[in-house]
Amino acid sequence: MSEAIEGEAFAPRLLRWFDRHGRHDLPWQHPREAYRVWISEVMLQQTQVATVIPYFERFMARFADVRSLAQAPIDEVLRHWAGLGYYARARNLHRAAQAIVERHGGTFPADLDAVQALPGVGRSTAGAILAQAHGQRHAILDGNVRRVLARHAGIEGWPGLPRVQSRLWDVARSHLPHARLADYTQALMDLGNAVCRARAPLCEVCPVRSDCVARRQARVNQIPSARPARERPQRRSRVLLVVDPRGEVLLQRRAPSGIWGGLWCPPLVAEDEDLDAACRNAGADSRSARPLAPLRHAFTHFDLVLEPLRVHQGRPEAITDRDPASHAWIKLSSPDSWPGLPAPIRKLLLEGIDPPQTDLPLPPCPAPSIASSSAAKPKGSTARPTRARSDNASSKASPRKPGKAGSSTRRG
Ligand code: SF4
Repeated sequence: MSEAIEGEAFAPRLLRWFDRHGRHDLPWQHPREAYRVWISEVMLQQTQVATVIPYFERFMARFADVRSLAQAPIDEVLRHWAGLGYYARARNLHRAAQAIVERHGGTFPADLDAVQALPGVGRSTAGAILAQAHGQRHAILDGNVRRVLARHAGIEGWPGLPRVQSRLWDVARSHLPHARLADYTQALMDLGNAVCRARAPLCEVCPVRSDCVARRQARVNQIPSARPARERPQRRSRVLLVVDPRGEVLLQRRAPSGIWGGLWCPPLVAEDEDLDAACRNAGADSRSARPLAPLRHAFTHFDLVLEPLRVHQGRPEAITDRDPASHAWIKLSSPDSWPGLPAPIRKLLLEGIDPPQTDLPLPPCPAPSIASSSAAKPKGSTARPTRARSDNASSKASPRKPGKAGSSTRRG
């Protein structure tokens, strides 16, 4: 623990603490170049550091610089992202790399406005990149930092509100030191992660505790205010697991925008779409459909309940002449060769898609209650036929979508 000097400013205390307790060996710190910091910052939106590190290292091994990312097929970028979630981030990275090549000759820009103009880069992310890569004097305000500053300055209200955000930006700027901006930026993130945690903050070892308003007023648990409660909408979609006589499964490439844009997926049939027609379109007979346990996936603003249906593909000629750029058959036994799949779909295929042993009737949509299935089985159970799963709990816990808004919630 660093000793505080009476009346000393925020930044020197934080930097002294960082020198002893901060993270100095993250892969994007060596070397701390703008391209590498940018990739790490985008990956860290909504995602913990420990999860990001292996993804970052694989990404860098394949896309070592802006040009290699810009020239890569989007499919390959998505494949390297598969499992991290929030795929708009990967599509934005790809588009941004192409914009950097076109507008800046392939060199990552060093100007705040130019960085903020890139797809998927908001004010906080742009500031974090330039502060860490070039030592520029910019404030950041990601989820962890908002919590630290709101508590330290005693700022009431939910940080998502514009008036609260505006005050937090003022505070963030007021604390900026005139040197060591890269370390200061990392120090703020580290303090929010390791000390000023959302639950049970470690105030007794905090380097800025002496003038922390929330601590002094014993309101650490009330600041920052929680997001006002709202009902989470729920959507349902059937997942057509079309299996051909060789045991291969049909995938289609999703449209570039929307849910899982650009990724590969079995055909999804929304609540208001005709199941018979969708089966016919896939060369399958809906009468052969057998339901598997439903699966819930949390997106930022809604829950998606996936209802897998295994159907036999009896008419290969119906789809053999489809465009291979948008249709593919995959071997269930070779997951390493699968293209980029959304995490819950990959999990579904990995866990096996054999039909249940009982002859359940084809469920109407909406299908059997997830809540009751979840209550009947522990999370992650693979027992059938009442199995129910819940994926991406971390994304459900994070209330905001990364992207242009820039001030991401994240990190561990
Ligand atoms: S004293 Fe406690 S609440 Fe205040 S900034 Fe430090 S860890 Fe957070």
